[in-house]
Amino acid sequence: MASPTTLPIMETGLHERDRAGVQDFVLLENYQSEDAFIDNLKKRFQENLIYTYIGQVLISVNPYKQLPIYSDAHIKEYKNKHFYEMPPHVFAVTDNAFRSLIDENRGQCVLISGESGSGKTEASKKVLQYIAACSGHQTTVEGVKDKLLKSNPVLEAFGNAKTNRNDNSSRFGKYMDIQFDYKGAPIGGNILNYLLEKSRVVAQMGGERNFHIFYQLLAGGDDALLQELRLERTLDSYNYLSDGLKGNLSSIDDSQNFKQVQQALSVIDFTAEEQREIFGIVASILHLGNVNFEEIEGNAQVLSRDLVVTVARLLGVNASELSAALTHRTIDARGDVVTSPLNHELAVYAKDALAKAVYDRLFSWLVQRLNISLQAKETRGARNNVMGILDIYGFEIFNKNNFEQFCINFCNEKLQQLFIELTLKSEQDEYRREGIEWIPVEYFDNKVICNLIEEKHKGIISILDEECLRPGEPTDITFLQKLTTKLSEHHHYVCHEKAPTHIQKIMLRDEFRLVHYAGEVTYSVIGFLDKNNDLLFRDLKETLSKAGNKIVRSCFPEQELRSKKRPETAITQFRTSLNNLMDILMCKEPSYIRCIKPNDLQSPGVFNDELVLHQVKYLGLMENLRVRRAGFAYRRAYDLFLERYKCLSKSTWPNYKGSGGPKAGVQQLVKDLGYDNEQYKMGETKLFIRWPRTLFDTEDAYQA
Ligand code: ATP
Ligand code: MG
Repeated sequence: MASPTTLPIMETGLHERDRAGVQDFVLLENYQSEDAFIDNLKKRFQENLIYTYIGQVLISVNPYKQLPIYSDAHIKEYKNKHFYEMPPHVFAVTDNAFRSLIDENRGQCVLISGESGSGKTEASKKVLQYIAACSGHQTTVEGVKDKLLKSNPVLEAFGNAKTNRNDNSSRFGKYMDIQFDYKGAPIGGNILNYLLEKSRVVAQMGGERNFHIFYQLLAGGDDALLQELRLERTLDSYNYLSDGLKGNLSSIDDSQNFKQVQQALSVIDFTAEEQREIFGIVASILHLGNVNFEEIEGNAQVLSRDLVVTVARLLGVNASELSAALTHRTIDARGDVVTSPLNHELAVYAKDALAKAVYDRLFSWLVQRLNISLQAKETRGARNNVMGILDIYGFEIFNKNNFEQFCINFCNEKLQQLFIELTLKSEQDEYRREGIEWIPVEYFDNKVICNLIEEKHKGIISILDEECLRPGEPTDITFLQKLTTKLSEHHHYVCHEKAPTHIQKIMLRDEFRLVHYAGEVTYSVIGFLDKNNDLLFRDLKETLSKAGNKIVRSCFPEQELRSKKRPETAITQFRTSLNNLMDILMCKEPSYIRCIKPNDLQSPGVFNDELVLHQVKYLGLMENLRVRRAGFAYRRAYDLFLERYKCLSKSTWPNYKGSGGPKAGVQQLVKDLGYDNEQYKMGETKLFIRWPRTLFDTEDAYQA
């Protein structure tokens, strides 16, 4: 007999409610009040209870200190437990997703969002930790797990950096798929990377650093390696490391991390030669940054020949050819090949473009290489058994917003669309399908903003691409003028002339403003064309396509030079990869982790109400709660429900004898139990209950 009811879980909930708020916001009485929401998060945070639910969405507040809640013992406690039996935790969400994957053979994805420093990457590691601990232990599988886990330090070394917001900030978006066999053992993985912030390679803001790997190599590489790479340990010897924060960081042990990276590279089967080539490329970028030019009669000349020789040696290219490529530009205009010298400014531009391109392509190469290592040997029967983890930049609003913020915020609009499609719409569709009377919850559908950005021929991306391709002299400002001519009537586009006075006062002439679902953002168009064109002069590409360093050679394939097609612009590539991501996610069942940063100081114990409120708004949590409250938290097919709870009434125990089947049985049961009409609804095939806590133990509540 199934164990009956009114059991402890929610009582634990009630108990906790006195001590430290409610563990599910759905239980919050004053659920429409932002103050009550923040208050609940704060109370819990002060008790080190960093996790809270909104239904099945997990809210996580970064504690900025190690909490003793991630041990193997904790993993065991969460294993195979129903969602609501245990306090909210990233392990509970993972376990729930993992079990749906194995039991129902449904592809899963864990979508982690939040602003920089809120704890996304840490959360994604906990998801991986849980999966590694809970799934099969055969030796073959251990190898796969090890590789999956070791991919993190490698990607973080090359893709993370110290910013003013986070000492270990991911400067790229990441989606990782883990494939399982039918028994639930991980057999492989695949990583997709998005938009590395490559401008950081050549310049950093005050207080920030370049990507970790540069410092790691200088601090942790042994003498022989540094000698071979002609590197000195002093950081200020390198222009590319000297814009922002100089020196090392107390929170990061670069030397130790370098050892970890080397060890990880070996576990992931990178050969000694590959490792040598990788560090050769990293070193070549540092040297390249120090290359200077002088200008003679308008023509740039390399001043530091010995440096160019070192760079050329590390990349395996001819030094004179590299020198020429850094100071000349060849244009092939329909067969008319013309080579002309660059002036000083353009030569510096070409040099920086080279450094950025080489680093960016090295990063993508690393991801591809990791994927080869992670590839499942045996994919039979594992098609649906995939769990994805998305750790991607959250919505960004800075004082100055550029092309990068535009891309990132576009990505967040797409993710919001996905959330609407997967959660809000499907929720309402089910009520409709079940014939349940249901007053639709109003929610803002941001499709209109996605269209404003990406619609063919009309959207901002099309206008930008058109301007980039236009002959004549397109500039950032002509691009802005086109935007305004074409979009000034759009409700979500605000141009300077039409902005309300108080906004106009703070807007510059080279800015436009978008009304995003999460708030209004002003973007400066300066740099849009350049970043979108993402130009690397042909001469440099050609030189690299012949490089002796095999990684470099494969990153700059010759076909690219031969192709008559113009390379795709940066934003178009990004849009395509985002749309592919949406397709991947669309057919999966989502779990959400929404991360919140409690303060700007990266300090434990400090909860800044205003800062948190800001994020609660941008993450759309109040709306999320409103929809959740309006709906029915619990639903169950009649036969399953009856089987589970028939023991609660004489008329259904041991079996319901009346006519009409399980639906009638359930109707009788809820009547006998005296439920209020408002609290439940009878659908075509399922019973829906608003608040499971008042009715049943929630052991299996919230299951569709
Ligand atoms: P970004 O967008 O910049 O990459 P992020 O959201 O990925 O930021 P994390 O790097 O995950 O942020 O977290 C920032 C720091 O906060 C971590 O380095 C760690 O010190 C701390 N932190 C985050 N989550 C936790 C946690 N659950 N327990 C302890 N410390 C944490
Ligand atoms: Mg991160």
